[in-house]
Amino acid sequence: MRHPSQVLTDTAIIGAGPVGCLAAIALAESGQSVTMLESNPYPTKKFAGEWLHPAGLEVLQKYDIPLDSLADSDYARGKGFVIYPDDDSEPVCLDYPAGESGFVCDHLGLVKSLRSKAESSNNITFLPFAEVNRLEKGIVSYQDKTTDSLREISASQIVGADGRRSMIRSKLGENRRPRLLSYMVGVSLDAASLPHEGYGHVFLKAPGPIIMYRAAKNTVRACLDVPVHVFRDAGCKKTLLLEEYCPTLPPDLAHAMAIALERDPLSVRPNQFMPRSFYGTDDFPLVGDAVGYHHPLTAMGMTLGFHDADALARSHTFREFERERLTRSYVPEILAVALYEAFSRKDKGARDIRQAIYQMWRKYPVERTRTMRLLAGEETNFLRFSQSFFRGIQLAVTGSVSASLRMQQLQVLPTLGSIGKLLYLLAKPSSSRLVPFGSSLTGLKSRRV
Ligand SMILES: Cc1cc2nc3c(=O)[nH]c(=O)nc-3n(C[C@H](O)[C@H](O)[C@H](O)COP(=O)(O)OP(=O)(O)OC[C@H]3O[C@@H](n4cnc5c(N)ncnc54)[C@H](O)[C@@H]3O)c2cc1C
Repeated sequence: MRHPSQVLTDTAIIGAGPVGCLAAIALAESGQSVTMLESNPYPTKKFAGEWLHPAGLEVLQKYDIPLDSLADSDYARGKGFVIYPDDDSEPVCLDYPAGESGFVCDHLGLVKSLRSKAESSNNITFLPFAEVNRLEKGIVSYQDKTTDSLREISASQIVGADGRRSMIRSKLGENRRPRLLSYMVGVSLDAASLPHEGYGHVFLKAPGPIIMYRAAKNTVRACLDVPVHVFRDAGCKKTLLLEEYCPTLPPDLAHAMAIALERDPLSVRPNQFMPRSFYGTDDFPLVGDAVGYHHPLTAMGMTLGFHDADALARSHTFREFERERLTRSYVPEILAVALYEAFSRKDKGARDIRQAIYQMWRKYPVERTRTMRLLAGEETNFLRFSQSFFRGIQLAVTGSVSASLRMQQLQVLPTLGSIGKLLYLLAKPSSSRLVPFGSSLTGLKSRRV
């Protein structure tokens, strides 16, 4: 049975994940009436974003999201990252800029907290049993799971916050397939201590990077990146992790990881890459993972998504929103792509690039600061990013790392070539990615559903 449009709202938001909720809160604060539709009424525990950079935290604070109850350890304020090189050399410590911190919390707790903040607003109607299945300009059709009936609402603007498999994105004609990068295995270690509490740890000696941080008072979260071919070829995934990942860790952590692997079922998610190049149209703007996503190594997904939500609420026009987000997401995204490629590949060229990056960080404190300003979301200027990037490349190709200049140049160049190809993907003219280099957005066509 189909009910006619009964609800009139300024904005309908599809999806009440972290970004959809924040978009609802931000738009409601700007005076709009908002209806938020979610197909999954009970947010489930899933292996997803837990580390927020200072720029993401700042947006949550701006909208008074209660965070104290989410801070489940003395180390919830992330201080930065410690990188453990693959050559067993001394770890490199990258601190957030002075006076700044990130925030670490359980993903489920964060979503619950955002949903309850949204529900407390007089301007927001939350429909938690609503699976959106059809859209046209100004009309959202959904299956009401409580009554098993089809319903409609009328909205001046329909925001897609429906995550990686966004139906709005594909209805708008954006059907590019994501690129599968690797698999991420999530493991929770009990009663383990980290060498640098309060920091995210990145261990680079295993077949893929291992990221660890304290997720709660008694829990250290380990995220194990497993290359696609290694994952698919492994008969028993647990044996693979026990034999090839555990031994690369400091002994205490290796022991805690082995216990957790024996005890718990594996939680696995694909790591995929979809460039953040399409923000929807003026009738159907997109925010969060519905825009695009990349490898979680740099933990940027939620920070970028929260800024999408904030920018949407502040912007007077869709063009203003789109221009701001295209410009400001570009550098964090290429940093994520370049660092993941450099840290995950095992060829000689990539090893030399890694060496150059370690050397750059050790030799130039200004580069450590710059990397963290980029990660913290404070630096989104492409020229500043490229200064660091090219200084790293220069170190790699001028042979200051290895004695054999000629060999090294030969080995580094193909690796740079393939990183360059990925960067090119981000910069493709068809995806309007040339904006950061100064071209205009006015030629963009808005497509309709
Ligand atoms: C393993 C892993 C680790 C990560 N670690 C980090 C990290 O440390 N830091 C970080 O910042 N980011 C991290 N990320 C990324 C982060 O989790 C995402 O960027 C973030 O969750 C995106 O939020 P979202 O609200 O855009 O989408 P989602 O969280 O996917 O929410 C989308 C919502 O839309 C709903 N929905 C979908 N379709 C419909 C429909 N048709 N009708 C109604 N509702 C619908 C879904 O049920 C869902 O609730 C990680 C990701 C992964 C996979």
